[in-house]
Amino acid sequence: MRIAVLPGDGIGPEIVAQAVKVLEALNLNMQLDHAPIGGAGYEAAGDPLPAETLALAKQADAVLLGAVGDWKYDSLPRDMRPERGLLRIRKELNLFANLRPALLYPELASASTLKPEVVSGLDIMIVRELTGDIYFGQPRGISTLANGEREGINTMRYSESEIRRIAHIAFSIAMKRNKKVCSVDKANVLETTELWRQVMIEVAKEYPQVELSHMYVDNAAMQLIRQPKQFDVMVTGNIFGDILSDEASMLTGSIGMLPSASLDANNKGMYEPSHGSAPDIANQDIANPLATILSAAMMLRYTFADESNADRIENAVKKALAQGYRTADIFTDGCRKVKCSEMGDAVVAAL
Ligand code: NAD
Repeated sequence: MRIAVLPGDGIGPEIVAQAVKVLEALNLNMQLDHAPIGGAGYEAAGDPLPAETLALAKQADAVLLGAVGDWKYDSLPRDMRPERGLLRIRKELNLFANLRPALLYPELASASTLKPEVVSGLDIMIVRELTGDIYFGQPRGISTLANGEREGINTMRYSESEIRRIAHIAFSIAMKRNKKVCSVDKANVLETTELWRQVMIEVAKEYPQVELSHMYVDNAAMQLIRQPKQFDVMVTGNIFGDILSDEASMLTGSIGMLPSASLDANNKGMYEPSHGSAPDIANQDIANPLATILSAAMMLRYTFADESNADRIENAVKKALAQGYRTADIFTDGCRKVKCSEMGDAVVAAL
């Protein structure tokens, strides 16, 4: 197993170190190669995605990533900003399918800002298309019009084949779950998503056991808060998925709990927490490493087809939570507040 480890910026190195600790405790035959990305890449090689980092990621079977970004890079030209490194590596590795499970651990029901009865038992899989949509569409940019006024442009664009392949991923996952797919779009206003809906309906015919429903994104944002347990698999485009999966993270107590997998057509994947680099809490050893540790479990499951060790990690996380260990973001009275590295130790001990 060749794994490229890209810690990135902010809390990235702290949380990735915990996931590496957990992986190493499994004593698997793994080769872990570290490389910089994001702001760290810019500092090391003048590029948020240095050529050597990209080459390493391409050669590896899987990539374990922390997070990128820091406010200190906000004044750099857009192409040099940390987030561009992330968008580029997703595109270069053709990681078009982003899986974000939103699962509520019973112990954390009171950490959610929603009532426990609304969120307990929650288990949603958000499937987000990751390499198309308004984040990549051309033309884009800020220009100055003839009258001297500035204008910003981005382009929402999806080809039929891009929609089809993410639809297949969503339906295949639903087949292994509760066989329900809710496709989220804005087909009443945006032609791009009108096509999205048509293609979803076409692909659904190949999965007669799966129930397909459609929801406008504004309603989906509301339903996720009102009655989140109505969802099994939710499939949507890049920008809607970005926003809805962050919203879903709060159902689970904290964004620090939410792992993600981004896969290509051959199950090569990049695994990272759904949150960002949290510069506000970096270098204090207080971040929650569980999303990154759970991302490592997804790596074992999806890229290496190692269900048993993936289950072991997930059960160890459950056990550490049941034992009362909590980082600051999920802390509630009566629990044991621990630092980032101590949470990593607790998971290793539970293993
Ligand atoms: P963020 O996700 O970094 O932080 C949002 C809030 O959640 C902050 O209060 C932070 O302290 C908290 N938080 C995040 N992860 C946490 C964890 N593991 N444990 C405890 N608390 C946690 O989003 P932001 O503040 O909007 O962005 C900060 C930087 O991260 C920006 O530069 C942004 O571009 C970047 N970013 C990167 C990614 C990524 O690498 N995938 C995703 C989103 C944002």
